[in-house]
Amino acid sequence: MPAHDVIVVGLGGMGSAAACHLAARGHRVLGLERFGPAHDLGSSHGGSRIIRQSYFEDPSYVPLLLRAYELWEGLARDSGRDVITLTGGVMVGLPESRTVDGSRRSAVQWGLDHEMLDAAELHRRFPTLTPAPDEVALFEAKAGFVRPEQSVTAHLELAARHGADLRYEEPVLRWEPTPGGVRVTTAKGTHTAGHLVICPGAWAPELLADLGVPFVVERQVQYWFAPAGGVAPFTPDRHPIYIWEDAEGTQIYGFPAIDGDDGGAKVAFFRGGEPCDPATIDRTVHDHEVRRMAAQTAPRLPDLAGRFLQAKTCMYTNTADEHFVIAGHPGHGSVTVACGFSGHGFKFATVVGEILADLATAGSTRHPIGLFDPSRLAPAAPASGQG
Ligand SMILES: Cc1cc2nc3c(=O)[nH]c(=O)nc-3n(C[C@H](O)[C@H](O)[C@H](O)COP(=O)(O)OP(=O)(O)OC[C@H]3O[C@@H](n4cnc5c(N)ncnc54)[C@H](O)[C@@H]3O)c2cc1C
Repeated sequence: MPAHDVIVVGLGGMGSAAACHLAARGHRVLGLERFGPAHDLGSSHGGSRIIRQSYFEDPSYVPLLLRAYELWEGLARDSGRDVITLTGGVMVGLPESRTVDGSRRSAVQWGLDHEMLDAAELHRRFPTLTPAPDEVALFEAKAGFVRPEQSVTAHLELAARHGADLRYEEPVLRWEPTPGGVRVTTAKGTHTAGHLVICPGAWAPELLADLGVPFVVERQVQYWFAPAGGVAPFTPDRHPIYIWEDAEGTQIYGFPAIDGDDGGAKVAFFRGGEPCDPATIDRTVHDHEVRRMAAQTAPRLPDLAGRFLQAKTCMYTNTADEHFVIAGHPGHGSVTVACGFSGHGFKFATVVGEILADLATAGSTRHPIGLFDPSRLAPAAPASGQG
């Protein structure tokens, strides 16, 4: 009999949640992570992630979001950690932009509370935002932010409390199915289990090559600025999260000044980064990048980009259609995969943990995950061999 019921590879945003849900259900879980707990070398760091319900990417994410919110509240309660804060959020752009129109469609289809604001009303409510006269916004009171490091730590702590064996600085070198389950070889030894859950983040091209799905890992930068007139108008009790699309389709997004004076407020481009590899990514942020961010921000939030404080790189792992991959491995019944979160996955981490626990133990889930089937991206994925 294998030593564990389930091995979870990668203890970042998704893997920590999967380990937590599996252990809480009483399964013997071994978690294996290449780096330390809640590290800043993958995709789940930088203090904040937007969470919202009126989902412009596709209305079929909404039921998952509603469940994710319940689970975020449960995680806050069970861990005692500050993982979620609702500030309200605005999706800004031209009325026909994907950011505005897509959000409105999701809100209407699912009957979500929202308000449409014209430019004058948006500026009146949130004076730091200066939209062009023809721009509008969808306001959603239930939007806000989750804290990635706090959330990963909370899931890991709860997993350990439920008996999970979590091992750090133990990179997985390869995995293979066995008659009774799976065998995983790491830099430190060999482990066996009945089932394997792989949540590799930006290492998907390496660990899940045999899925046959082309992933593009993208370098992204998060920037913090000290607002010119001080943080008072930017505190989370006064300032919403925002996603702002310009006439060319470029999106920026940002947060209130979450951790006070020194923290400043974070802003970033959504998409449009350079392809990269997690082993060789350029983690230096260059002056021209900071200038480009400040220039995009200046007309929209003139007070924000006062003084540049710091910047940090991060990685998206994109699929061709920017939808996730969450499924049983098509070639191996004892393997479940969660990857390709395409820069918008963190808000779902709680419900993804629940889904992965369902798939790993029952082979199915009540949640709607049809959109995330890898066969849409790799119709002829080979069923053998591994990465
Ligand atoms: C700048 C930026 C902004 C973002 N903003 C938002 C946002 O506002 N809202 C939102 O919802 N989402 C956002 N996202 C996306 C979201 O953060 C990601 O989708 C999510 O963090 C992905 O989680 P993950 O578990 O797949 O990856 P990770 O958290 O990176 O976890 C993967 C883990 O696998 C480990 N690993 C890899 N290979 C091995 C191996 N061989 N052996 C052992 N361990 C291994 C890695 O070390 C890592 O810890 C953003 C992402 C970035 C980069």
